[in-house]
Amino acid sequence: MQPVQLAGHALPPIGQGTWHMGEDPDRRQDEIAALRLGLELGLTVIDTAEMYADGESEQVVAQAIRGVTDPFYLVSKVYPHNASRDGVVKACERSLKRLGVEHLDLYLLHWPGQYPLEDTLEGFERLRDAGKIAAWGLSNFDVPDLQGVALNGCATQQVLYNPEARGVEFDLLPWAEQRGMPVMAYCPLGQGGRFLDHPALQRIAARLTVTPAEVCLAWVIRSGHVMAIPKAVDPVHVRLNARAAQLTLAPEDLAALDAAFPPPGRKQRLRMV
Ligand code: NDP
Repeated sequence: MQPVQLAGHALPPIGQGTWHMGEDPDRRQDEIAALRLGLELGLTVIDTAEMYADGESEQVVAQAIRGVTDPFYLVSKVYPHNASRDGVVKACERSLKRLGVEHLDLYLLHWPGQYPLEDTLEGFERLRDAGKIAAWGLSNFDVPDLQGVALNGCATQQVLYNPEARGVEFDLLPWAEQRGMPVMAYCPLGQGGRFLDHPALQRIAARLTVTPAEVCLAWVIRSGHVMAIPKAVDPVHVRLNARAAQLTLAPEDLAALDAAFPPPGRKQRLRMV
């Protein structure tokens, strides 16, 4: 398993998403158990956001990490409407409280909003100086959005990326790689989407005696510069996702996937969910 270098940390290439966790009290114990299982299996990056279930997702994460002594890497995100110079500091403090931690490893601006990016970045830098975050990054920013912005401290971009959403390969992934900036791929399984049934994925999975989801995740992280953050509550899914980090696809598998899910031939507008 090749680690992803992010803000001075060698991190596992597969982490854990948490969108929709915390929405249903009846599922809470399963969600906590899934995150804890993931941590035990090496999925030590946990991605959450103040948006998810109105902060309840952060509280699920808080319960999952309580008492965990092995290292883990915690990521949360600020809503654009909270991302003014002062607002970002207050939003982070609320997230820290919900998460029950003193600091975040990484804090992201969830998507572009009404405040000048420079103001948000100033807020991030203040949080970093105060030791409340170790690093900051962006999410859902297309390359043209970032022309002329001083991004020296930006640790990562988090964007939609999976075999059916390859637009970022045209410009954003090369842009990030040139800067030595890893990318976090959200919805790496297309939200459990139908493309997992695609015959090309099924054929490769059958040959390797794995599942299409594992092939999909191995494909997403294949460059060594992209981390996938699938969300899984089903413990079977968690185990498969952890196993996917060990899978390397052969050139003929990659070619088959290129034929089934063609790479972009021109600039495509950044997709978001
Ligand atoms: P994913 O692509 O991770 O898909 C999640 C779905 O796939 C769930 O239904 C899950 O089921 C299922 N699943 C998980 N593992 C497997 C498996 N091995 N085989 C088959 N099905 C599986 O979608 P998300 O939208 O959750 O994206 C991942 C994470 O990215 C989010 O949770 C969030 O943290 C982040 N995100 C960030 C965004 C941003 O704007 N920055 C936007 C969207 C997401 P089950 O839960 O039942 O196991």
